Amino acid sequence: MLFKNTANKLTFNTFLSGTPARDYIMQDTPYVEQIAQAVKMIKDADYVLLGAGAGMSAAAGAQYGGKFFEERFGEFQKIYGKGPYMQDMYSAGFYPFPNQESKWGFWCKLALTAGADLDVTPLHRMLLSAFEGKKLFLLSTNADHQFEKAGLPAEQIFATQGSYNLIQCKRGCHQKTYNAVSMFRQMDQARKDGKIPPHMVPKCPVCGGDMAMNLRVDDHFVEDAAWHEAERRFGEFLSEARDKKLALVELGVGFNTPTIIRFPFEKLVRDHENISLVRLNINEGAAVPESFGSRAVGINADMATSIADIVSGVRGA
Ligand SMILES: [Zn+2]
Repeated sequence: MLFKNTANKLTFNTFLSGTPARDYIMQDTPYVEQIAQAVKMIKDADYVLLGAGAGMSAAAGAQYGGKFFEERFGEFQKIYGKGPYMQDMYSAGFYPFPNQESKWGFWCKLALTAGADLDVTPLHRMLLSAFEGKKLFLLSTNADHQFEKAGLPAEQIFATQGSYNLIQCKRGCHQKTYNAVSMFRQMDQARKDGKIPPHMVPKCPVCGGDMAMNLRVDDHFVEDAAWHEAERRFGEFLSEARDKKLALVELGVGFNTPTIIRFPFEKLVRDHENISLVRLNINEGAAVPESFGSRAVGINADMATSIADIVSGVRGA
């Protein structure tokens, strides 16, 4: 009943209490009707909460494997062999590098390629143009900063899983992160045979131990002051929006980490009749709980196309 009580503030932890639906269906409404339904939900809303997963970056053109990987990471494939790891940026991140010089020799390149140097913002920018005049907030599991690059103010973003631009103490001995983009560029320049020079290996300024990317891969993930500030803003937005006309727009959130966006979004719809859900994905990712009826639309289509169609519908083009 917590959600019904307007006196209670909604926090990120309360939000995270969603559970998997048992009545998922793939809606069989024709595509044009689904787009019209999504357009209406967005037009009717005063508040929009975006939830973005990896599928959003992919739909916008971010690439991780294949020729893209071979062209940029071929030097590492030569050193380490292709094996199970050196196939794409995601798998390569798990390679057991023999030492810190090799680890950062690789990771500086990955962090820059997937983060600071990634520019797939046209689709993000187009999407944002559909929400002019609305109160907007983004919850994202992406670490690539693409919505921010597309112009969404950082104050309206909560990226829960970290950033390709930041590093932290590997053991998380203190709750602070460090922007490493310029350091990554220096490492990238200095790399020889896959390794950076020993003097460039970053060390924790507090405990002197190894550093790591600020990406949530284990229990040592550092939630710094900016992370907590974003969490607080998210809670404020949701506390204000949950009793208003709120549209949840979920973008490429699959079943890898459904507990952060997918299930909590479903719980919000389940608990509040004033909240609607637009779910964009491909294949089974687009399934929605049948019990939501007309308050949810799950569009199973190429997301670049469905986003363009929704935006032109909302903007009246
Ligand atoms: Zn430390």
